[in-house]
Amino acid sequence: MTDNTSFSLSCVVPVYNEGPVIAQFLEALQERLQGITPDYEIIVVDDGSQDNTVQLVEGYCDGQHIKLLELSRNFGKETALTAGIDATDSDAVILIDADFQHPLDMISVFVDYWRQGYQMVYGIRQDRDNESYLKKKGAQLFYQIMHYSTGINVPAHAGDFRLMDRKVIEALKSMPERNRFMKGIYAWVGYKTIGLPFQVQDRMAGESGWGFAKLTSLALSGITAFTTLPLRIVGGLGLLISIISVFYAFFIIFRTLFLGTPLPGWPTVIVAITFIGGIQLLSLWVLGEYIAGIFNEVKQRPKYLIQRQIGFNKKQ
Ligand code: UDP
Ligand code: MG
Repeated sequence: MTDNTSFSLSCVVPVYNEGPVIAQFLEALQERLQGITPDYEIIVVDDGSQDNTVQLVEGYCDGQHIKLLELSRNFGKETALTAGIDATDSDAVILIDADFQHPLDMISVFVDYWRQGYQMVYGIRQDRDNESYLKKKGAQLFYQIMHYSTGINVPAHAGDFRLMDRKVIEALKSMPERNRFMKGIYAWVGYKTIGLPFQVQDRMAGESGWGFAKLTSLALSGITAFTTLPLRIVGGLGLLISIISVFYAFFIIFRTLFLGTPLPGWPTVIVAITFIGGIQLLSLWVLGEYIAGIFNEVKQRPKYLIQRQIGFNKKQ
């Protein structure tokens, strides 16, 4: 950490079709940051927006405090954050959404904790009342699976809204995986961490880019990237079924030989075949998820492609 008087602070803001709010957001954010340190920068990462977001942000790029990193297409929020993080070299980095759901008031609180020595300060969402039942339950199930299956504790209700010290940033940058499941990665790196509760605000305008399908896919890739529990469950299931069938075989042999009961015929056979067939397909799917994960990692493609950078010339 730096001395008490001066430190540099970066704010990484991923944006995807945030045209209706981005101008207002940048002004509000800039006002807050000015009050915290003169050496601040806002890195807006455009994640392939199709609306006027880029043009609006360009208008704010002053060659000093507000910078734009335009990705070549929509890579997803996690990758956009990675691109933004890679572009920073300040003492502390804050990640914040552009839709006003993360209260700007928390920024100075995060900074205070950081200056007290915390290397990672993250926000804990207080309520998810305005989210659908399915989304809430899904999130709950996901955290439970993560919690029970990985050694690491992924805090529930913790999002990307957080401040990280340079040390943490360097740790994140050293992790080569293409699958940027950030919640898991934050938890994995460790460091002196504290979670602070905050109230999620309503989305100011625009729409959440996270549909149910996208969230489910994120959860699946998160689970397969951080735990091999599903493979074990499938293995356990196979073992269980084998044991049951051995007992059942003995039972049939006993019944036929000693009690003289005739063999009951095809229904049992059909049930057994479809059951085992189902389990086998399920196992293949689980295996497939992991193979897909391996496939994506071994390709060693860049995590993101940058179309254009504005305002970075001074540092890079
Ligand atoms: N976002 C992004 N790429 C995407 C989807 C979203 O960069 O593919 C940005 C979005 O502009 C916003 C933040 O990520 O600043 C959070 O997105 P959103 O509000 O849609 O997610 P939620 O609040 O539902 O988690
Ligand atoms: Mg949002």
